[in-house]
Amino acid sequence: MENGRKLYEKIAEKGFDGAVFLDEVSQRWLTGFAITDGAVLVTAKETLLLTDSRYVEAARKGVAADVRVALFTRSPLVETAEYASKAGLKRVCFDGGRLTVSQWKKLETAFGGMALEDLPGACDDLRRVKSPAEIANIRAAQKITDAAFTHICSVLHKGMTELEVAAELEYCMRRAGADGLAFETIAVSGPKSSLPHGVPGNAVLTENAFLTMDFGARYNGYCSDMTRTVVLGRADDEMKELYGTVLRAQEAAIAAVRPGVSGKTVDAAARDIITEAGYGPCFGHSTGHSVGLEIHEEPRASARSEDVFVPGQLITAEPGIYLEGKYGVRIEDLILVTETGFDDLTASDKSLLEL
Ligand code: ZN
Ligand code: ZN
Repeated sequence: MENGRKLYEKIAEKGFDGAVFLDEVSQRWLTGFAITDGAVLVTAKETLLLTDSRYVEAARKGVAADVRVALFTRSPLVETAEYASKAGLKRVCFDGGRLTVSQWKKLETAFGGMALEDLPGACDDLRRVKSPAEIANIRAAQKITDAAFTHICSVLHKGMTELEVAAELEYCMRRAGADGLAFETIAVSGPKSSLPHGVPGNAVLTENAFLTMDFGARYNGYCSDMTRTVVLGRADDEMKELYGTVLRAQEAAIAAVRPGVSGKTVDAAARDIITEAGYGPCFGHSTGHSVGLEIHEEPRASARSEDVFVPGQLITAEPGIYLEGKYGVRIEDLILVTETGFDDLTASDKSLLEL
């Protein structure tokens, strides 16, 4: 079943006869095509994508089989409301988390004669389990990301800056077919590796120190996500011990992934190892998140997550230990939940690389 129909079945059960979306993620998921400044209207009869002349030709070629594309010439909101009115809609929902206040006010005016109500996360629960086509896109995105890691390992050298590392990774992903970045690349060296989400700068890479790279590609809009921590030069015994602890925690989290297991069980698998090693307070974030059209999606693998995994869901396994002012290590793979367990989509080496 096409996604517009899946959404309609859900909203009809809640007493709505239509749904309207303005954001790119919902548009992409509902129609197979994403544009800025467009609108999607889902009704019992059809899924309608309204776009302007910049995108209309590409949209007609790119949308899913059940989607009708219409050209708007004045305002997507006003014209979407006109289609809704012509379709006789009475109670229309939107996802308040994906609208700005200004868009919401304009929607209220445009849909004046109809009841307009917030249905938080309207598409989100339907997007949790990925279709085979979505999984193929995520696999392709991760393959591109792995290729970028292989490349960076061959070109890393003394005197390189963090920004040069980030630029190489991004260039390589584009060259390998990425249609964008999944998020801003993290490449942090030496003491900055203790910042889980540090921003790469003009600093030259520190020798005989950790370099953490967290990066991902987009392929047909779908994200990948991986982290590798390597050493430029040689690691001392303390660094090797820390890296080994994170790796054991990460592998334990992966091994825990299978249908029926909760997010908090996967989180505990990693966290227990880090806590037993004495680094519990130095692992502040959760073990993993799902990915899809967005880089951070549900379900999560956190200490509080009651989410129970089912086949077709993705979860990252990315524990880390961060020693303030000193250094940090994080290792991240992207894991697919399968019928029998898991499939690690990340192919890159996880042994401690001294480059
Ligand atoms: Zn990441
Ligand atoms: Zn991640």
